[in-house]
Amino acid sequence: MRDYLVRIISDEKNILGLASVTTGLVNDVCLRHGTAPTATAALGRALTAGGLLGALLDPGQRVAMKFEGDGPLRKIVVEAEGDGTVSGYVAEPQVDLPPKDGKLDVSGALGSEGFLTVSKDLRIKKPYSGVVRLYSGEIASDVAFYLTESEQIPSAVGLGVFVEKNGQVSAAGGFLLQSLPPSDPELIDRLARRVEGMDPVTTQLRQNKTPEDILLELFGAIPCRVIGTQDLVFRCSCSKDRLEEALLSLGPFEIERMIQDREDLHISCQFCGEHYVFTHRDMDTLLREMH
Ligand SMILES: [Zn+2]
Repeated sequence: MRDYLVRIISDEKNILGLASVTTGLVNDVCLRHGTAPTATAALGRALTAGGLLGALLDPGQRVAMKFEGDGPLRKIVVEAEGDGTVSGYVAEPQVDLPPKDGKLDVSGALGSEGFLTVSKDLRIKKPYSGVVRLYSGEIASDVAFYLTESEQIPSAVGLGVFVEKNGQVSAAGGFLLQSLPPSDPELIDRLARRVEGMDPVTTQLRQNKTPEDILLELFGAIPCRVIGTQDLVFRCSCSKDRLEEALLSLGPFEIERMIQDREDLHISCQFCGEHYVFTHRDMDTLLREMH
């Protein structure tokens, strides 16, 4: 199954549902970073959440999520764009913990004390950013808590990553339900009970159910219709130009100091591992551009 996301809206237009399968992109990113199983589950959940939040944006718009906790994983960073591209990394990819209640211990790895920062670049006004405390460190409930508290949109989020014994991800995906105005508390209660009673997303994906199947089952008897699908892919937005901008922002003194060191500057992108080299001459040119 290719990675994609489906959008469903209730006929009353007061419930929006998104569901995705992200097995391929989670495998791609985790392979690049050589993550151990617990780190794979944490990063995979965050990447899947990134895809869901990205799907709420228009093409050209961007969202970044930074989870910082008091656990050994320290930090997870994910970026997603409105066109369905997602990338991300964890600060400590080697983190692996014993399972807890038969599941990979994501909250033990990230920690339950810390912050989730969500930044959005909507390209229409200044970038926006909101911060909440981590709710549980399990990722899904942290994202739901952020949407409900910071953006004031009551939301339910489910995320799953199934890591096989060999470290491969055999299923990853998630869903997001949002209550839109005018909100219907009775309907939200009904949906919340269905969410509680449903099988985990990875169980359903491993039974060959599609994101459409997962959402339609959640909506149950609530009249609704599919309003679109979107491919999800791993792609990093790094480029030599973007790194140049970052270098320029350091200012002329810092660049002059680097030139005096007389060594080429090697920079690796944290998101994808791509390696960039700025020669002595590149930096000379940069410095001249600044003056
Ligand atoms: Zn990159």
